Amino acid sequence: MREPRTALTPLMRSVRDRHVESILRVLLQGDCGRKELGRRTGISFTTITRLTTLLLDAGIIAERPRTTATRAGRGRPEVPLGIPDDGKVVIGCHIARDVVHAGAFSLRGEPLFALTAPTPEGSADDTLAAARDLVSAVQSEYDPERVLAVGVSTGGVIDHESGRLIRSPLFPWSDVDMRTPLAQTTGMPIIVDSTVRSFALERLWWADEAPDSLLVVFVGGVIASAMIVDRHLHRGPGAMAGDVSHLPVPGGPGFRCPCGALDCAGVAVTADAILRQAKARGILPADADLTALTPEDPDAPAGIRELFRVRAERLGDLVARLIAVIGPDVTVIAGNIGTDDDARLCLATARQRSIATTGADPDIELSRLTPAEWLRGAAAMALDAFLRSPTSFSRDLLE
Ligand SMILES: [Zn+2]
Repeated sequence: MREPRTALTPLMRSVRDRHVESILRVLLQGDCGRKELGRRTGISFTTITRLTTLLLDAGIIAERPRTTATRAGRGRPEVPLGIPDDGKVVIGCHIARDVVHAGAFSLRGEPLFALTAPTPEGSADDTLAAARDLVSAVQSEYDPERVLAVGVSTGGVIDHESGRLIRSPLFPWSDVDMRTPLAQTTGMPIIVDSTVRSFALERLWWADEAPDSLLVVFVGGVIASAMIVDRHLHRGPGAMAGDVSHLPVPGGPGFRCPCGALDCAGVAVTADAILRQAKARGILPADADLTALTPEDPDAPAGIRELFRVRAERLGDLVARLIAVIGPDVTVIAGNIGTDDDARLCLATARQRSIATTGADPDIELSRLTPAEWLRGAAAMALDAFLRSPTSFSRDLLE
């Protein structure tokens, strides 16, 4: 992005970014008058008045109809401010193995418009072209002034800073620049990151009650995690933050990890690990793929159900060790954990282990992610980038 000219010093601009984020964080939860905004953010009334005027002029917030609920204390009722339904939008794009989704969301996370296309078989260029076409089609539904940014997510290891997909469990690509082709076509800021991180940001900005700290552990064909600490996604340098694939799994299946160690999580608790064990034990034929893993099917071989049960315990144990290190307010175990019994076992193991080691009963949720949630997560990445630095996305805020 080209830096706009501004009279603000870097320090003033940074303070303004923090203030605008605080104001918008309150308004994302619901409408609020200026005085109440001052009370809830701790920002002086003079600054609130100045910044809400800029936000109104920029079309990011709007004055809302008065309701009795906004009549705070004595005196004249305040004019509530809020995030309008026909205001700014963020676009999300999620690239899955079979399907590419793109959709627009209001800043409050309401889905507005979405499109889907099959993921082309072939090169990374073909897939990125499909993503670009979908995002452009969604973008064309809106006045250019209304779209703030585009978030693009996919599974794998992604370097957010450079916008590059380092490697993917879904595609045979490595080191692909995902950002430049989309930025060139759309002319928009493009935020690229992994799906597990996008899901953490979706919880941070659009959950009914967002925790200050959050650990998300995703398990599917791979295992990955994302951490929100003090309401910030921890990305760290490079792409490696949240890589839990080399944590040891005691008593694992005895598989060698590409790193050389035995029973790293990436080869011991993933869906691929279950498939490999099922083949090694002759439960499934050598040419079976991940679609053969259906523990909820009453006709599934008992051996498959047992492998899922054991995996649920190992995963619960691993999550408990992560909780002990990070100490999050809330932990979400996301993905395909198996049957409802497997999910309960995983949860119970993690809780028992946490209580035994830390003495505290952790708040753990399970989430079977849907494509709609991935798309929302990708859009939440765009919202997060905007809220981290609002003056970079809306030059009206530099006045
Ligand atoms: Zn390893």
